[in-house]
Amino acid sequence: MTRRVSIFGATGSIGQNTLDLIGRDRASYEIVALTGGANIDKLAGDARAFNARIAVTAYDDQLDALRDALSGSGVEAAAGEAALIEAADRPADWIMSAIVGSAGLAPGFAALKHGSTLALANKESLVAAGPLIMAEAAKHGARILPVDSEHSAVFQALVGEDIDTVERIIITASGGAFRDLPVEALETVTLDEASRHPNWDMGQRITIDSASMFNKSLEIIETKEFFGMASDQIEVLVHPESLVHALVGYHDGAVMAHVGPPDMRHAIGYALNWPRRARLPVERLDFTRIGSLNFRAADEARWPALRLARDVMQTGGYAGAVFNAAKERALDGFVAGELTFNGMAQVVESVLTQMSADPGLSSAQISLDTVRQMDHLARQYAALAIRAVNQ
Ligand code: NAD
Ligand code: MG
Repeated sequence: MTRRVSIFGATGSIGQNTLDLIGRDRASYEIVALTGGANIDKLAGDARAFNARIAVTAYDDQLDALRDALSGSGVEAAAGEAALIEAADRPADWIMSAIVGSAGLAPGFAALKHGSTLALANKESLVAAGPLIMAEAAKHGARILPVDSEHSAVFQALVGEDIDTVERIIITASGGAFRDLPVEALETVTLDEASRHPNWDMGQRITIDSASMFNKSLEIIETKEFFGMASDQIEVLVHPESLVHALVGYHDGAVMAHVGPPDMRHAIGYALNWPRRARLPVERLDFTRIGSLNFRAADEARWPALRLARDVMQTGGYAGAVFNAAKERALDGFVAGELTFNGMAQVVESVLTQMSADPGLSSAQISLDTVRQMDHLARQYAALAIRAVNQ
């Protein structure tokens, strides 16, 4: 029987790895929707190759180009935010949420209504609206499977175990591009340097977030939301080899570690085939060649993003949405050359401090509309903070 699949963010790094796996077993899948941004050639090329029913670009001004590129193919073309939601409304058995940033929240949320399986790479949605997403999944009987490598690793280390017996979850971090640089040198690192990851091949934004550890800070919050852990049960360990992705410590003292090659097709393939394990085209590790694995503490002076994540979890409510949006705007600033590498954490901290003056920030009940408003507001505050830093 074929499975109906939709991929949001199909033209990105996760989307392309997902298509790589699907392409190896083409007859088992029927592609409903593929979505992308401005890379119309790739989107249209894949939509044709995989015979998708619809291809959606996020940008209205790309619709004509997409229509032209798809002409004669029988693939429907659409554009814009509403079209993304409409595509998410189309029934599918397995949906990949791999848009980057908070733009992935609304389509992923809409897809949960089918009560099918949502493979969640878009960690930003859990950071911004974790309780809403988990409640929506429960309401519709939908299953969310983690795709982030660390969270897939935790999920796998939990198979057959009782979550109540978990004492702690340790997620590892490679430390990113600057893990061995003296802290003072972080003042002057460039965009180019921050965009090179020592171990993983990923989209540019998450690669920079790895260097600043904003990625790990999002992942700490993702761990809290996904597995229902308290802040003090979640630890981060710097592990330069990126082979142990996560460790789960149980209350009898045992620790289950997940080890695998740094290839996202493992986590994607696990989510695609769950609850089975399928043969995957990833490297088989040779431990005699690896020899040793290294671990060290994650230094909060070097990576202030980690400390900020703890504050965000403490505040709760809309703090995650604010944190993520301020981070996204600060990252835009760094990419545009408006902000230094260290300036990103300063801007995010300043936005969190300013918005903490609003008692509504820590509301126990959150709504999707207010998440969106808080996201907009945080970006405005971040833009002002960027201006202030530059004065
Ligand atoms: P990417 O930049 O390579 O691709 C992003 C995708 O989102 C593209 O298809 C792009 O067209 C689309 N997109 C960008 N802005 C959009 C918008 N405003 N509206 C709609 N679509 C938009 O990113 P990626 O590295 O594949 O990451 C995707 C998600 O997966 C992120 O949430 C990231 O944190 C997460 N993730 C990625 C990796 C990885 O190895 N790349 C690992 C773990 C988690
Ligand atoms: Mg990760």
